[in-house]
Amino acid sequence: MAELSEVLKQATGVLAARGEGVHLIDEEGRRYLDFTAGIGVTSTGHCHPRVVAAAQRQVATLIHGQYTTVMHRPLLDLVDRLGDVLPAGLDRLFFANSGSESVEAALRLVRQATGRPNVVAFHGGFHGRTVAAASLTTSGTKVRSGFSPLMGGVVIAPFPNAARYGWTAEQATEFALQELDYVLQTVSAPADTAAFLIEPVLGEGGYVPATPDFLAGLRERADRHGILLVLDEVQTGWGRTGRFWGHDHFGVRPDVLITAKGLASGFPLSAIAAPAALMQQAWPGSQGGTYGANAVACAAALATVDVITEEGLVANAAARGAELRGALEEVATRHEQIADVRGLGLMLGTEFRTPDGAPDGAAAAAAQQEAARRGLLLLTCGPWGEVVRFIPALVVTADQITEGAAIWSDAVAAAAG
Ligand code: PMP
Repeated sequence: MAELSEVLKQATGVLAARGEGVHLIDEEGRRYLDFTAGIGVTSTGHCHPRVVAAAQRQVATLIHGQYTTVMHRPLLDLVDRLGDVLPAGLDRLFFANSGSESVEAALRLVRQATGRPNVVAFHGGFHGRTVAAASLTTSGTKVRSGFSPLMGGVVIAPFPNAARYGWTAEQATEFALQELDYVLQTVSAPADTAAFLIEPVLGEGGYVPATPDFLAGLRERADRHGILLVLDEVQTGWGRTGRFWGHDHFGVRPDVLITAKGLASGFPLSAIAAPAALMQQAWPGSQGGTYGANAVACAAALATVDVITEEGLVANAAARGAELRGALEEVATRHEQIADVRGLGLMLGTEFRTPDGAPDGAAAAAAQQEAARRGLLLLTCGPWGEVVRFIPALVVTADQITEGAAIWSDAVAAAAG
């Protein structure tokens, strides 16, 4: 008999047997309201009938085409369809299987295209667990520790994290831009800097939205110095934030967009998108992979785009997100240990602090565990695990938001004792 490695952490203890929309059902038949969505992946809900039908059709037709050997119809159709939802001008795509792989692909592209070695990433960012992606990740040392030496050519600059310092958005923006200029003057000269790589909303690092002025400042510096602006929208894409892309909130134009998670409703698929003139500078044959753009994953992604656009899921994320936020804020007024409620759309977090203002991972975990016992599945994030996050599928209804919020209210009260 073999066993799973202990290295895998289990957030809920649930043995999932089936998924239906916003619910997971365990082997005993107990139903859980799933506000984790497989870490923000199953945005169309578990097993959406149109995604299931598309995948079933494809699985019986062609499972593995292998896109560096032959082209296949699901990939061509998906590329065509993505043109409707990608930011204007980002019309060249490359596909891989995971967020981390697409981060690596973006890194390879910006280094090859600019001939410059360094990338500036931002403090609290999460970009994945492969060596390059972990090197760019500073959401917590657990991703980096015991894995050194990590990749060189990475410089970390401050993120405009107003919540962390108790600052206004303006103060946080001014500080972060000043420090970025200092970094460009003292650590990585513009001529050595290939790209700025940033999440529009810090995900694993604690659900902290960037500010419009900060992203505008990055864009301006990027244009001035020939530096590329890479947005990691692995967690913020596909309607999660109440707009199709996270950056739609900020009015900033990326040079490279990284996407994964919500793209294929749970099938492993990720992509980078960039303008043709940039993508053509990738060295021929330098990007690829055995499983990239798997035919079943592409068929599922195509159905996912249709469901998101035709069923109005982006608008639903905005409306349900506003309701959930209101409910979370109401709970916060009754519990002093909840220091902040923040996020965009259906990407919301609630931060716990001790009475003396320190991040309180233990209190967040206690509330999250209590919620799981009461049938509401949640995850934590943040460097100390101090933030409980709420990321239901975008198909969530108003009644399900009310039900989830009521469980949350009881769970926080019970955990506080
Ligand atoms: N970037 C961001 C913003 C993410 O949230 C994640 C996953 N949480 C990744 C990259 C890595 O994606 P994957 O786990 O699919 O490699």
